Amino acid sequence: MNIAVIGTGYVGLVTSACFAKLGHTVIGADNDPSKIQKLKNLQMPIYEPGLEEIIKENFAQGRISFTSSVSEAIKKSTIIFICVGTPPLEDGGADLSAVEKVARLVAEEMTEYKLVIDKSTVPVHTGEWVKKTIETYNKKKVEFDVASNPEFLREGTAIHDFLNPDRIVIGADSEKAKKLLLELYKDIEAVKVVTDMNTSELIKHASNSFLAMKISFANALSRICEKANADVNKIADGMGYDKRIGRAFLNAGPGFGGFCFPKDVSAFIHIADKLGYDFHLLKSVEKTNEEQKRFIIKKVEDALWVLNGKTLAVLGLAFKPNTDDIRFSPAMDIVSELLKKGVKINAYDPEAMENAKKVIENINYCNDAYGTMIDADALLILTDWEDFKNLELDKVKKLLKAPVFIDARNLYDPAAMKKAGFTYRSVGRPV
Ligand code: NAD
Repeated sequence: MNIAVIGTGYVGLVTSACFAKLGHTVIGADNDPSKIQKLKNLQMPIYEPGLEEIIKENFAQGRISFTSSVSEAIKKSTIIFICVGTPPLEDGGADLSAVEKVARLVAEEMTEYKLVIDKSTVPVHTGEWVKKTIETYNKKKVEFDVASNPEFLREGTAIHDFLNPDRIVIGADSEKAKKLLLELYKDIEAVKVVTDMNTSELIKHASNSFLAMKISFANALSRICEKANADVNKIADGMGYDKRIGRAFLNAGPGFGGFCFPKDVSAFIHIADKLGYDFHLLKSVEKTNEEQKRFIIKKVEDALWVLNGKTLAVLGLAFKPNTDDIRFSPAMDIVSELLKKGVKINAYDPEAMENAKKVIENINYCNDAYGTMIDADALLILTDWEDFKNLELDKVKKLLKAPVFIDARNLYDPAAMKKAGFTYRSVGRPV
């Protein structure tokens, strides 16, 4: 099939690459010309393991191309995936202006049947609005359908997730649209949940909010554990063996981040409010998440006393490992707060430093993990990159001014760290 993917960010690029790999002809379109220029030169604008290889292979086979003309992509394709950003507005709602723009453009450009599929994460009723918008501007009265097909990939394992999903959710009100989408995904073995658009949109918000709730639950537990002298990891293990609960997303840490959970939780609260329901459960999830960042900062204060003028070695800026994405990263928020308190930051992240430099200039960005530790008063781990799990502890001790080790990701064993001579602080585990 001929597919246009509008928006070539984390979701759009992976969607483009994977549909091309499945044998479809894909045009990726973006209104950021610098991104498209990079892609035309086969340079990746984002870091995502495995993406470059698939794009290069399918580019050579003529199955994938890129354009900065969204109109051109629409004209040449029957299937149009909307993968643009839906960032948060001041009031917590989702900014749907990019989605609306694409819908209007589709209406203006189409001369034959189009299936417009929303893959961006959007509040319930967005599909209905996309349909109304296209109807309004569709002067030529061309036939079209709108569908919802939310994306559940995780950055860092996005290719695998796209091609091996736990489920594919298809929300459409027309039989033709459902049939086309089932055909499109026929080579991916997964449960297909076929439903109406509103339900499909709510499945996505409900899923992300539920996962965020699990993280906030673990973080709340970590607070109790510190007061009760108990181990949050062991509690998560003990809970996780229960199949009704599951172990995933029960790790305590510095809070959730990224371009999904924070904005989706707040958009879900906002749309619930608009629909007349006060989603106080999710408001607590948000509040716990904010508190957790301050809880980590308090750990630094408790370890160093006076912060002004101290130097901190920070490992990790991305919101999670295996990505260069720093959007709503708790690590970035914590570092910003520490800078305000007069702390000098030496930081290292394997992939996220170029993005971080665009947001925070006054960090001393280092070439490797050990470089951050030279003459630093303490070490703070904020992202659980694999590289940070096996540091040479003797070297760390030698480089730091004092052996103060704050592990916001619970990567090390407290007893072993004590034995190694560190003042070691983690999250929700006995000192
Ligand atoms: P992104 O910011 O990386 O990509 C969005 C792209 O859309 C950008 O390249 C931007 O230039 C482009 N764009 C914006 N307006 C446009 C327009 N009018 N025309 C053409 N291009 C336009 O965002 P992302 O992380 O890929 O997320 C996209 C959507 O997918 C969001 O709704 C997000 O919530 C959802 N989502 C993200 C993830 C994830 O892990 N990042 C996972 C599932 C769902």
